[in-house]
Amino acid sequence: MKKPVETLKSYITDVADFPKKGIIFKDITSLLESPKGVKICLDSLLSGLTNKQIDKVVAVEARGFFFGMLLAQSLKVPFVPVRKPRKLPRKVVSQSFDLEYGSDVLEMHQNAIKPGDKILIHDDVLATGGTAEAVCKMVESLGGQIVQCNFIMKLDFLEGVQKLAPHPIYAAISY
Ligand code: AMP
Repeated sequence: MKKPVETLKSYITDVADFPKKGIIFKDITSLLESPKGVKICLDSLLSGLTNKQIDKVVAVEARGFFFGMLLAQSLKVPFVPVRKPRKLPRKVVSQSFDLEYGSDVLEMHQNAIKPGDKILIHDDVLATGGTAEAVCKMVESLGGQIVQCNFIMKLDFLEGVQKLAPHPIYAAISY
């Protein structure tokens, strides 16, 4: 019988040269199509949270929303979306971060986090860590305490874990 992590890997589709040449895109839509795969993935993410108190789940647009919402529901805590600029209607905090070429900005509602809230950050893929680092900065600027950043998968050769240190990282799959 395959180990759960090997089973989980079998639901991820590698798409070569997307969105540009040289990138292997880790497509999770094939995972989302499988209720069994979704359960294995969710169970794995939850297993990394045993004995940890989480007050809110903060997840990144757009692919972080799928399991972010499932995690929030499973943990019975609020879900807080992080979005691209000009999507959120109330007062926001913004954080810019560097991309390979240029930069990007993420936003979250200013009143979504209260000082002392214990936060789980979730996204689908940890690559260089720039995205998650920007989210960590926003959460901390509002007084939130980051308990863990969790991901469906991390790409170890891009050293995102090092970039996010000392925040604890959990990934259901590592490549
Ligand atoms: P990074 O900021 O470099 O850690 O990139 C993480 C963000 O980019 C996440 O929101 C991912 O959805 C997306 N991402 C980066 N690399 C990949 C990849 N190879 N396949 C799918 N998504 C990726």
